Amino acid sequence: MPLRPHLLAACVALGLAACTSVPVARTAAANRPAPTAQTLNSGGVMPAEQARVHFDHAELHFAVDPAAQSIDASATLSFTAKSATDTLLLDLDRNLPISAIELGGQPLAAGAWSNPDGRLRIRLPAPLVAGGKVRVTIRYGGKPHVAKKAPWDGGFVWSRTADGQPWVASAVQGEGCDLFWPCIDQPQGEPDLIDTYITVPKTLAAPGNGVLVGITDTGDRHTYHWRAKHPDTYAISINVGPFKLLKGDYASRYGNTIPMELWYLPEHAAGAKQLFGEFPRMLDFFEQQIGPYPFGDEKMGVVETPHLGMEHQTINAYGNQYRKNGYGYDSLLQHEFAHEWFGNQLTNADWDDMWLHESFGTYMQPLYSQYLNGDMDYFSWLHNLRLLLRNHHPIVSGSSKTEEQVYDETAGPGQDIYNKGALMLHTLRQLIGDQAFFDSIRRLVYGRPDPRPGNFSPRYASTNDYVAIVDQVSGRDLRWFFDVYLRDAALPRLDEQRDGDTLKLRWVTEHGKPFPMPIEVQVGDTVHTLSMQDGSGQLQVPAGSLLIVDPRSKVLRDASYVVDYQQWMKQQRAAKSAQK
Ligand SMILES: [Zn+2]
Repeated sequence: MPLRPHLLAACVALGLAACTSVPVARTAAANRPAPTAQTLNSGGVMPAEQARVHFDHAELHFAVDPAAQSIDASATLSFTAKSATDTLLLDLDRNLPISAIELGGQPLAAGAWSNPDGRLRIRLPAPLVAGGKVRVTIRYGGKPHVAKKAPWDGGFVWSRTADGQPWVASAVQGEGCDLFWPCIDQPQGEPDLIDTYITVPKTLAAPGNGVLVGITDTGDRHTYHWRAKHPDTYAISINVGPFKLLKGDYASRYGNTIPMELWYLPEHAAGAKQLFGEFPRMLDFFEQQIGPYPFGDEKMGVVETPHLGMEHQTINAYGNQYRKNGYGYDSLLQHEFAHEWFGNQLTNADWDDMWLHESFGTYMQPLYSQYLNGDMDYFSWLHNLRLLLRNHHPIVSGSSKTEEQVYDETAGPGQDIYNKGALMLHTLRQLIGDQAFFDSIRRLVYGRPDPRPGNFSPRYASTNDYVAIVDQVSGRDLRWFFDVYLRDAALPRLDEQRDGDTLKLRWVTEHGKPFPMPIEVQVGDTVHTLSMQDGSGQLQVPAGSLLIVDPRSKVLRDASYVVDYQQWMKQQRAAKSAQK
């Protein structure tokens, strides 16, 4: 998901698309009852009934009626019991009424299931033993929840193109898959395989996740059949519009050929052509720096959406209106595309580990800027991220969280999972060196150091998994590093004292945790490295000599001038809004 829009000047300097205002898509949420809190939440502690099953396959059929803003749908879901169970527990918005449920093709009595609050409880006629399989078909439909401000406040977006044709998208990261299909609304609720059938008027197209299996005609409508492996639960998406298609092939350094697709609105042909021209370069970068594109046997796919963007697996939502930034690429697309590695290939075990998606996803923009144009663009990007830091709550809490709790700006880490985490990764890279740093990323993303197409599949990982990987590749115990940057709210502060010609440095952390972070100090023409083993160090600095602490900007730390600037910006905004 892109950063929430906000007003800091840093955004403008950054050219960060997510910071600029985007026209709100025309939507109509005419007096529909709101989904329950259960439905609007995603993740948290997984109920025992859901933990008892493995999700083998989902076959989803959607007939989309843009005029009525409704869907007529059925879902056939297959599960294998991991342990004995007499109940199937799924998540589905109760505002999408269920007309029938079948088990193994047999209709189920109405009394055998209920969905009072968005939690669909199906009592199985015969209990399943471990290893037993069940196939359930759920027929449902109605008006799915309309997004208030997609993608941050998500749901369906019913929009229209300039010439009045329907333009529809879904974006449900925050609320989860249960806004439009019966699922296990958890990061670890991914089915092994999904087939989606999307039926739309023949004047419209329906690009989807994975590979296009075929298109079938039924009167004045047609059905797109897509198939995807291991889709992230919130990455299953509906896209409908009068799209045109740009197609090409990318010859990967790993020997495979990756199909590329951009589904765009006809009125944006020129912008689309330019954006499509960026695809190979982005693939080059990620395959060079991180590893093989995880879905090379499906496609690199992008579709134009009325909302800003979302990391929908192999069909990334793109709504940045083909705008340029000062770094020579479309940062919105590059960010969402990064999530194919950090989000879709590697999925956080729990929303509490969401920084694994967003910190890495955000660090890919400075890294790509460096790859394209060198250090000036890299550091410029990083510094602008720094101006956005909040440091109010730790990035990782250590307990299971919902998506909403993580994105909560008052009680959760909010945007720090993007910016602070990205700056932390820069610091980690300086601390352990490029080789260990990129090795750690490969092991995190693919679960192995030598990924090649065919020898890995999508996986889950937690914060502790990554810390263990970094310890392994660096041969050091770096828990202190993550304990301060991820589990404290405040940044470490470097206390500087002068005693005659002696400069005394000491790390101060929020809870007195150890922080043996080496620091470079330039005195005159010489750069010294203080190991800071016990958290402190000292150096002779003759009066009047040039002194720069951390001259190469290696270490993320508290900086009072940044906080002062943020305060000043806040006052400016308050004064401006008071004038209005
Ligand atoms: Zn993101």
